[in-house]
Amino acid sequence: MKCHCCNKGRMIEKMVSEKVELEGAPGFQIDGLQVLECDKCHDILVDSVTARERTKKILRKLIQYYSPRMTKVPGKVAHWMRHALGLSQSELASAVGGIDPSTFAHAAARNSTIDHYAAFVLLSLCADFVTEGSEGRKLIDKTKKVDKILERKAAS
Ligand SMILES: [Zn+2]
Repeated sequence: MKCHCCNKGRMIEKMVSEKVELEGAPGFQIDGLQVLECDKCHDILVDSVTARERTKKILRKLIQYYSPRMTKVPGKVAHWMRHALGLSQSELASAVGGIDPSTFAHAAARNSTIDHYAAFVLLSLCADFVTEGSEGRKLIDKTKKVDKILERKAAS
């Protein structure tokens, strides 16, 4: 495969690392990204498979960092995660339940932290995305059931 940039070099498979700087989050590095690099001009090509892997690697880091810090998820980071998952504000709001979709836009604009429970839902959905599973969803549904039971008990 010829380089589309210089039209001379050949594209060679290469493993690279990337320093990731997301606004509001501490910087971190992700490793083992498979890219194609031109042997002449060093232009780098990322295919859609690698792009998805990159997103997953970043989400893994964010989950690791923010799971023990659910009260400290900045609005801008939440915004990045929501986009990575391909969710609209209203889709995320309905997953959280009882929250206005604009809450996320406000948190991103002010970069204030998002609600603790919203962070739990968002991180659980991120975990599903990374694992391509549904444990996060199940966990969210379970907490909703438990909430209902607790409310009912409080009312009686
Ligand atoms: Zn090139």
